[in-house]
Amino acid sequence: MNLHVTGFSALVRKANLINGEWVGADDGKTIDVTDPATGQTIATVPNAGQAEASRAIDAAHDAFPDWAGMPLGQRVALMRRLHDAIQDNLEPMAQMLTAEQGKPLSESRAEVGSSAAYVLWFAEEARRTNGSVIPSPIPGRKLMTTRHPVGVVAAITPWNFPSSMLARKLGPALAAGCTVVVKPASATPLSGLVWGHLAEECGFPAGVINVLTGSARAIGGEITANPKVRKITFTGSTEIGKQLLAEAAGTVKRMSMELGGNAPFIVFDDADLDAAVDGAIIAKFRNAGQTCICTNRLFVQAGIYDRFVEAFAARVASLKVAPGGEDGAEQGPLVDDAALEKIEELVADALAKGGNLVTGGAAHERGGLFYQPTVIAEATSAMRVTTEEIFGPVAPVYRFETDDEAIAAANDTEYGLASYAYTTDLARMFRLQDRLEYGLIGINEVLIVMPEIPFGGLKESGLGKEGSWQGIDDYLETKYTCIGGMSG
Ligand code: ADP
Repeated sequence: MNLHVTGFSALVRKANLINGEWVGADDGKTIDVTDPATGQTIATVPNAGQAEASRAIDAAHDAFPDWAGMPLGQRVALMRRLHDAIQDNLEPMAQMLTAEQGKPLSESRAEVGSSAAYVLWFAEEARRTNGSVIPSPIPGRKLMTTRHPVGVVAAITPWNFPSSMLARKLGPALAAGCTVVVKPASATPLSGLVWGHLAEECGFPAGVINVLTGSARAIGGEITANPKVRKITFTGSTEIGKQLLAEAAGTVKRMSMELGGNAPFIVFDDADLDAAVDGAIIAKFRNAGQTCICTNRLFVQAGIYDRFVEAFAARVASLKVAPGGEDGAEQGPLVDDAALEKIEELVADALAKGGNLVTGGAAHERGGLFYQPTVIAEATSAMRVTTEEIFGPVAPVYRFETDDEAIAAANDTEYGLASYAYTTDLARMFRLQDRLEYGLIGINEVLIVMPEIPFGGLKESGLGKEGSWQGIDDYLETKYTCIGGMSG
């Protein structure tokens, strides 16, 4: 098999994959996909709706028994092939990701590499979905549990990580023996379509992976209402997540939700200042601040506050803002006009409420969707940035005196996804582990996500875990069997 291509356009089929066929929308309508760095249209994809979603679900449903029943070794081999195909095409896939999403090419390469790693991890985990034998308290009975794929899974993915969010869903679903209907975000549908193409080339049977682009409402409505869909796995906003939970209640589906965050980043007086600044740059400005684990609020202790703000702002001011494909780009454009308008509103609100603009604070001279990396010192809880997900390159810095004050402020949110802290005090590290109400805690480290760990939020940040040995559980049902009359 030689799937290696030099440009990304050869990788993308600009049609939907339903039951092994590449098809357009029934009414022929399309959606333009634009490069956020230039505003130019780079592709058009089908604008599918309810009828197409229904057919994709039927295809996944029909393909399910054979896929679930395929000898495990064969299923694992197909997944390993998919991993290799992604690795072989890492460069064109990364270029495509940057073109549709805007992030720097270095981040796109890391995302595609991580996507392949998730597929491999779950291919390996597929071999460990064993059940158990339970010692019976009653003579003459054999008690056991077995684990089975839940059935058809619908995976709805966001625009900020169009490849890796899919990998975290497709990986465990396929490994468990589920078939899948994928609905990528309309702003960034190309990565999902490439996955469909590669899977087809690798030899996945028709109907096992179906990819639909189009109306979120129409496709989403069919996914939530259709009883053949047994599980929905969603990454996106808390608002849409709640809507999907409510809509899916009618058919009692299994639900996995990766929703919003409001990550605190706490710097204590005893922290290694350089390490804290390095961490804050990555945790805040990665993907132009558009990730659900990006730092939203920086809390800095009074004794180190001025030094931190000075060093941090100097680094922020020197970040290279440029199209993601340009050499050395560190911050690309925002995803769309609405994102830019929201950032402008949040900054105006913070400054009107007494924030001290240290650097940035305006549209970038490159124009379009580029915004200056921004630091606002003396932030207060009255500002909208305290409670709303910023999702952009704006860093509000709050001052605190005591540990209790910082932890209470950090936890004062309905979200509970990622949190970060910098300190050299071991006892404090363990106190933070106990008291931070977050599913992910990074202490003196911000690059904390990898296939081996359970990624998932507490509180309104979500339900379930992606990655780790736990990540496959949500795609499996446990059956219990009791066999009586065994006393001979
Ligand atoms: P984001 O802020 O990341 O765009 P959204 O929650 O709006 O988050 O979107 C995440 C994903 O959910 C996208 O694929 C989007 O198309 C999809 N989506 C949005 N609205 C609905 C809906 N009503 N039903 C199903 N999917 C939806």
